[in-house]
Amino acid sequence: MTSIVRKKNIILKKHEERRLLNGHQWIFSNEIHAANGAPKSGDIVEILRHDMKKLGVGFYNPHSLIAARFLTADDEEIDFQFFERRIRSALALREKLYPKSGTFRLVNSESDFLPGVIIDKYNEYLSIQTFSAGMDERLTLLCDVLVSVFSPRGIVERNESPLRSLEQLPQRKGILRGSVDPTIIELNSLKFRVDVLEGQKTGFYLDQRENRTLVRPYAKHATVLDCFCNEGGFGMYASHFGAKDVTCVDSSEFAIEKCKVNVMLNELQNISYHCADAFQFLSSAHQQEKRYDVIILDPPSFAKNKKTVATAVKGYKEVNAGALALLNSGGILITASCSHHISEETFLNAVQESGVKAKRKLRLLQTAGAAPDHPTLVAMPETKYLKLAVFSVE
Ligand code: SAH
Repeated sequence: MTSIVRKKNIILKKHEERRLLNGHQWIFSNEIHAANGAPKSGDIVEILRHDMKKLGVGFYNPHSLIAARFLTADDEEIDFQFFERRIRSALALREKLYPKSGTFRLVNSESDFLPGVIIDKYNEYLSIQTFSAGMDERLTLLCDVLVSVFSPRGIVERNESPLRSLEQLPQRKGILRGSVDPTIIELNSLKFRVDVLEGQKTGFYLDQRENRTLVRPYAKHATVLDCFCNEGGFGMYASHFGAKDVTCVDSSEFAIEKCKVNVMLNELQNISYHCADAFQFLSSAHQQEKRYDVIILDPPSFAKNKKTVATAVKGYKEVNAGALALLNSGGILITASCSHHISEETFLNAVQESGVKAKRKLRLLQTAGAAPDHPTLVAMPETKYLKLAVFSVE
């Protein structure tokens, strides 16, 4: 068998292959000794050790701190069949996880061995985000594969993430194939109307899929506050599981409007809405001496990069202390962080310190991560981001 000849390659500095051999998939720009064949952003390059032994192939981007992203150690073309194999393999896992559902995260970037692309499936629609120049350049090819595997009614790109600028990619959003209309997805017995073009991120937050049902044991007859509710997620499950009344808070008017639609769709009762800043809501609720049995906090990422970790920790302390001050004794705090740069330990310590500040005693009942269709690579901590903790509060 003849092996594939590639004219462009990068040679790593001595010993810089170690992380890659341990299962990490990124090569940083300062780990590269030389780039040969004038590879451009998005090109496929052979990745060679310092002694010229071949490690595999990957995407190259000279403009990014992540200068190369590993694709394969095998002697294979990076073509339609390659992407089809990887997408089918990602699909096989989701079919096991959610055999009766047409909605799931189909591809979770590096942790599905497709570096720099996220694909969510909402019934007959697919929503894509590309974060690497290599994947962005192959968006048409990816769509061709997706059409051949799924025959979707529509494919959209939601490439509005500011993270794309790290690879010098512009922000874009729009329909790539077919047409799109809102679609109703069903997750754990509740329905949500998803707008793949206008909803946040790829349309909806699928990562909290199972976590939303963690409210179940605490919901019956409870007074519940769902801060950062987006389109209704946790609050709707609280109502579904028998809460006496649920207050949903989000600063996005669009999210609150969608929340109302979802509540009606499921004929849920006793839910009220506030389009407000959660920090302000918590402090005015405190002034009004309001009390809740269960509070959910699921804020957006507070730490966009390593430099903002300290400010983010302050934010977590503030918001958790604000919630703790409103909880009845024996109440439940369900609190989450989706900041990549904040470890679970740092997050739990921040919540614990909020407890000290609010003069409340906290017992950790349970922790959880993202839904299993958002797998993580243990060798690659960057693929883990969502931390959720359930505390009993005295
Ligand atoms: N809990 C939701 C997901 C939350 S995503 C679910 O189960 O689907 C984070 C949400 O926080 C977004 O909807 C965003 O609009 C909202 N948000 C961001 N900043 C906010 C603020 N300062 N106050 C209230 N909501 C905010």
